Amino acid sequence: MGNVVPIFRPEVVKEGVPPELQSALSQVIAEGRFIKGCEVAAFEKELCLELQTHSVVTTGNGTDALLACLMALDLREGDEVITPAYGYPAAVEMMCLLGLKPVLVDVNWQTFNIEVGLLKDAVTSKTKAILPIHLFGLPASMDDILHFAEQHGLPVIEDAAQCLGAEVEIEGTRRKAGTAGRLGCTSFFPTKNLGCWGDGGAVFVNSDDVQLTQKIRMILNHGQRDKYLHEILGLNSRLDTLQAVVLRHALKYLRDANEKRVEIAIRYQEELREISEIELPPFPHNPLNIPNVFTIKVKPQLRQQLKSFLWEKGISTQIYYPLAMHWQKAYQSRIRSGSSLTNAEKLTHCVLSLPLFPSMEKAEQDRVILALNEFFRNHE
Ligand SMILES: *Cc1c(COP(=O)(O)O)cnc(C)c1O
Repeated sequence: MGNVVPIFRPEVVKEGVPPELQSALSQVIAEGRFIKGCEVAAFEKELCLELQTHSVVTTGNGTDALLACLMALDLREGDEVITPAYGYPAAVEMMCLLGLKPVLVDVNWQTFNIEVGLLKDAVTSKTKAILPIHLFGLPASMDDILHFAEQHGLPVIEDAAQCLGAEVEIEGTRRKAGTAGRLGCTSFFPTKNLGCWGDGGAVFVNSDDVQLTQKIRMILNHGQRDKYLHEILGLNSRLDTLQAVVLRHALKYLRDANEKRVEIAIRYQEELREISEIELPPFPHNPLNIPNVFTIKVKPQLRQQLKSFLWEKGISTQIYYPLAMHWQKAYQSRIRSGSSLTNAEKLTHCVLSLPLFPSMEKAEQDRVILALNEFFRNHE
C-alpha cells in the first residue's frame, strides 16, 4: 500500500522543529516557566493584532473557551441558546453542563452552517444567545445573524474553532471570522488552522468592554481577580507557556499555511468537478473561506464503499459527523428542536472529508484525485 495519505499531518512531523523554535522552547524549559508568563501574553497580543479585534484571552482548550463565554454572559438554568444541529457538539455539551437549553436549528445543505431563515421560528422569550458554528472553514452568514440578533437584543458567540483566518462581511466591511459577534472562541487543537502540540484555545472579546474581558480572565483562573481571592465561580483553564511558544511561531506562518489550504481546495475543485456523483463544498468562496477539511457529499449507499476503496489506496478519510446533535445520547433529552432538522440528518449519511492540510504534497493530492476519479469511473 505504501505511504498513507493521512487526514492531517502536523507541519513539524514533515519538517522537524525549526532551529529558532527549538531555541525558544529550550529557553522556557531552562528557566522552568511552564504556566502563563510573557510568552502567553505576547501570543495574545500578536493574535489580537492579526485578528484586528479588542482582546484575546487564551484558554486550556476550545471547549473551555465556549464554557467561559456562556458563564460570562450570566446565562441561567433554563435559558435557551440557538445553535446549529450539525457540527462538533462542544458548545451544546457545555450548555447542557450549565443547565441551559440548546435549541437546535437546521443547517444549509451547501454551506453546512446554520440556516438563518429558521431563526425566527426558534426564538422564544427564553432565548438568551445565538451560537453559530463556522464549520469546515466556511463562515456562517454573520451579517444576517447579527442583524437578527440585534433585532432581538441577543448576544452572539461565534464558534470559530474550524475557521481561523477566514473572513466574513459585515455591512460591507470585512472582518475575521470569530471577531464579529460579541464573543468568539477558537481551538488550537493540532488539526485546526492554527494548531499547537497539544490542547489550547482562546476567547475573542470583540468590543472595548474591559469588564467583560476581565470577567473572562477571572473565570479562566478560578474566579480570581487577585490571587487567593475567589470572587466568582470559575475554571482552571490556561494556555501552557510551551504551547504559547509553539503558537507564536505558527502564527507567523498562519497566512502562508491558510493560502496552502485554499490552493489545495481549488485544486480539488478543478480536478473533481467532472464527477457527477459527488457534490463539492463551496470553495473558494467570497469573502474568504479557509478550508479546514474538504467535505464532499456522496450517495449514502456509496459512501462506505468509497471510503474503503480510498483506504485500500492508502488514503485516509473521515466522516465529520456521523450523528446529528439531537441523535447523541448525552444531549437527546436536554435539547429542544427549533425547526425540522432534515438537512442535518441527511448530511450525516452523505458527508465524507478528504485530506487537506498545509504540508500535503502535490503527489499526495494527486493520489486523492486519481483514486476518486477511478472509483467513479467504475460507478457510472
Ligand atoms: C475543535 C472544536 C471545538 C473544541 O475545541 P477543543 O480545543 O478540542 O476543546 C469546538 N467546536 C468546534 C466546531 C471544533 O471543531
